[in-house]
Amino acid sequence: MSAAYRIPFNKPTLTGCETDYITQAVASGQISGDGSFTRRCHAILEQETGARKALLTTSCTHALEMAALLLNLGPEDEVIVPSFTFVSTVNAFALRGARPVFADIRPDTLNLDECRLEELITRRTRAIWVVHYAGVGCEMDTIQEIADRYGLVVVEDNAHGLFGAYHGRKLGSLGSLATQSFHETKNITCGEGGALLINDSALVERAEIIREKGTDRSRFFRGQVDKYTWVDIGSSYLPSEVLAAFLYAQLENRESIQARRQEIWQNYQAGLESWAAKNGVSQPVIPKHCEQPYHMYYLLLPDLESRTRLITHLKDRGILAVFHYLPLHLSRMGRLYGGQPGDCPVTEHVSDRLLRLPFFNSLTIADQAEVMAAIHEFHV
Ligand SMILES: *Cc1c(COP(=O)(O)O)cnc(C)c1O
Repeated sequence: MSAAYRIPFNKPTLTGCETDYITQAVASGQISGDGSFTRRCHAILEQETGARKALLTTSCTHALEMAALLLNLGPEDEVIVPSFTFVSTVNAFALRGARPVFADIRPDTLNLDECRLEELITRRTRAIWVVHYAGVGCEMDTIQEIADRYGLVVVEDNAHGLFGAYHGRKLGSLGSLATQSFHETKNITCGEGGALLINDSALVERAEIIREKGTDRSRFFRGQVDKYTWVDIGSSYLPSEVLAAFLYAQLENRESIQARRQEIWQNYQAGLESWAAKNGVSQPVIPKHCEQPYHMYYLLLPDLESRTRLITHLKDRGILAVFHYLPLHLSRMGRLYGGQPGDCPVTEHVSDRLLRLPFFNSLTIADQAEVMAAIHEFHV
């Protein structure tokens, strides 16, 4: 389907070193997980985010599942989560039987509305799972203060937010746990991959055990026990060295990847400013105290009708623009948890109006200019 588009929505960034490193990993004789490329990725992630401990996983979805296991979430528990997110954020604890309580978002940053958070807390609430939408930090000071007051754990789904910061503190280092995604659509990728970041030291050892099929294999490899055995529940969440080698090539080139993304983002923001103002379209809002990692560029059209027309207008010119997320509280699963129209009015409104523009590192200046020219021809 995307072959029909001259300017696609996304293409994975390649740095040129990926296949060399994969060859090295294969030549080293260890292609299963937790070898030297994995260790090098962990070191970069810990250094960049300030997280106490980073563990590569096979996806962000799996890192989120690990978080639910680590927090012992179960059928008696409720977790507050924005309705405006990817399904994995919620599936992770729904799989353990815990119930999602859907929160609405702020109309400016599209992040969980911290002013409406407290009214969702019940006797059963155990955790607040936040999503830093587009890598712009949630109001973590307020959220953490509420969490502390009620004895709740905060988990960051930081799939969009690697290298972002809030009041100078790196995203991924703020919750007890945080998760990263290295899916093809993210800034740094290995096709499918992720990481769990652990900031609460008390959770580190068990995280290693859960990731290694419920065994103390990591302790065995460090020489801390003389044999390894089954000590807890767990699964297989570690990626092979082949993937870690690919990922290392990307992480090593993080500065140039991020610099190019900043350029593309700023071009859109400046190039569309006058058009947006004339047409009643909103551009992304980045609060002064947030440093964003330039994950995506989106526009908020006035309504569903104008967004549909703009998608068609761009499609006719060979340009693919896409939207997400359908409100989770109104999905078939969300309804089973009691979701009703009107529960999260901002989410419902934004979901009809948001449009993401082509955004990838190899997007040429000429192609980006063409996208913007096509938008300038469009009248809301
Ligand atoms: C991409 C994404 C995920 C899932 O990431 P995978 O690595 O594909 O499992 C989860 N949450 C958010 C907010 C995402 O954008």
